[in-house]
Amino acid sequence: MQPPICDFCHRDGRDHPTLEFALVTFRDYRPIDRPGHPDGMLWFCEDHVAAARTLKHLDSGPALRRMRETEATGTD
Ligand SMILES: [Zn+2]
Repeated sequence: MQPPICDFCHRDGRDHPTLEFALVTFRDYRPIDRPGHPDGMLWFCEDHVAAARTLKHLDSGPALRRMRETEATGTD
C-alpha cells in the first residue's frame, strides 16, 4: 500500500498532518493478494476525495483526466 499522497494535487499526508486522506476505488480496481498497491485504487486528500468519488464508475486514468479538465475550466 502506498502512503497517502493525493493523486490529484500530490500533497503528501506526511507533510500535511492535518489533512484527511481517503482511498477511492475505481472501475479498473483489481484486488491483489500480495504486498503492494493495487491498480485502480488511489489516495485523495479531503479537498479532492468528493470529486473523485463522483467518478468512481470510470477507470482511474480517465477519472483523473476528468477532474483536471473540470478544474481547468473552472466549472467545478
Ligand atoms: Zn488533493
